[in-house]
Amino acid sequence: MTNYYQRCIAAHCRAEFDLDARLYVCSRCGGLLDIERREEIDSSTLREIWQQRRSSLDPRDRSGVWRFREFLPFTDDTQIVSLGEGNTPLYDAPRSADYCRLPQLKLKHQGCNPTGSFKDTGMTAAVTQARKLGARLVVCASTGNTAASLAAYAARADLLCAIVVPSGHVSHAKLAQALDYGAKVLEVDGNFDTCMNLIRELAEDESVYLVNSINPFRIEGQKTVAFELAEQLEWQVPDHLVVPGGNLGNSSAFGKGFRELMESGLIDRQPKITVVQAEGAAPFARFYNGTSQEGRLAPAVLDTFENEEHPQTLASAIKIGAPVSWQKAWRAVRETSGSVITVTEQEIADAKAIIGRDGIGCEPASATTVAGIRKLRIKENETVVAVLTGHVLKDTDYVINYHSQTLIAPDGIHLAGKFANAPIRIQSVKSVADILKQI
Ligand SMILES: [Zn+2]
Repeated sequence: MTNYYQRCIAAHCRAEFDLDARLYVCSRCGGLLDIERREEIDSSTLREIWQQRRSSLDPRDRSGVWRFREFLPFTDDTQIVSLGEGNTPLYDAPRSADYCRLPQLKLKHQGCNPTGSFKDTGMTAAVTQARKLGARLVVCASTGNTAASLAAYAARADLLCAIVVPSGHVSHAKLAQALDYGAKVLEVDGNFDTCMNLIRELAEDESVYLVNSINPFRIEGQKTVAFELAEQLEWQVPDHLVVPGGNLGNSSAFGKGFRELMESGLIDRQPKITVVQAEGAAPFARFYNGTSQEGRLAPAVLDTFENEEHPQTLASAIKIGAPVSWQKAWRAVRETSGSVITVTEQEIADAKAIIGRDGIGCEPASATTVAGIRKLRIKENETVVAVLTGHVLKDTDYVINYHSQTLIAPDGIHLAGKFANAPIRIQSVKSVADILKQI
């Protein structure tokens, strides 16, 4: 019998289900599901085992997710679906630190995953589960990164794949990835939330497996990023961990990962998790700001969450008004005494350019972190890690427009590129020499 099971997160319900029950939410109350473990793990030698696996050639050990498989709800003989995900760099970012008026800042770049976004760490687990359940077809709704990731992992698993995207609201690069990996791309009039509602109706079909971030197996894969980060910091967790907030799967996964590490005695404290949302797509920040310190612990507070009907931001990866994982993210923020803040389109654009000056390319949504850190009150001796979620090549139109001073926010306001670096047209070899003397 497996050591793992699914459990509803709602405090009044706590219904339990078999690990392989094909559920996406609690069948009793509609609450989100967690995957939980029945027995404690002997963690006394795990740090050494995980370290040793780094020099192994076993595909499970080569993956930055499956290397931590003692904490994953799969048995050792499971046929995993992997593209060698995880193992992403933790960069020192001195220019970004300076911009945030901090002595030091580290950036964990999840955009260095196989399909260029953090989604791969969760997708390897969810598609492995899809294959285990004998699914014929895997489906997701997406703003682009999930589509690219699911399409790739489905192709590796030899599963059919369909993705539902908001027509005209997905970057070309992400769409190109999904098409290239062979997914059926269904474009829908509406926004991400329209797509999400549409695919929920497919959940009844036994041969279809939904792989949105509501899927608890994705959170399981994603939580290993906390493990990898702790290992990279020699098990000294930072004081603050700052993540972008869209569908809120990231903050949920980090919260679960660090909690499990602490329960197992592998770390002795958790970082404060701060979620940063774009001002025009910030239902979670509004909810956070609308609750008092004491009120945050009251179960009734959950009823006050309101979706954002018309989310607006150029950071398309977080342009989400009805974040499915908000209750798990809320738990992570509350348990770690973190916070939720917002940043403007201009702040995102400038922060993105500064991250670029560190030689680190990210997509706009990722830059909410550095923009947010600049606004946080951080003590001088505190350590900060920001999570970058997607690669710079995910949205090159945005980058070119910023540097060419042609970036327009959703409300029609022109975003001045304070750190713009426009290309220079030259007329002759001599003019090149002249220009090079001046830079
Ligand atoms: Zn329930």
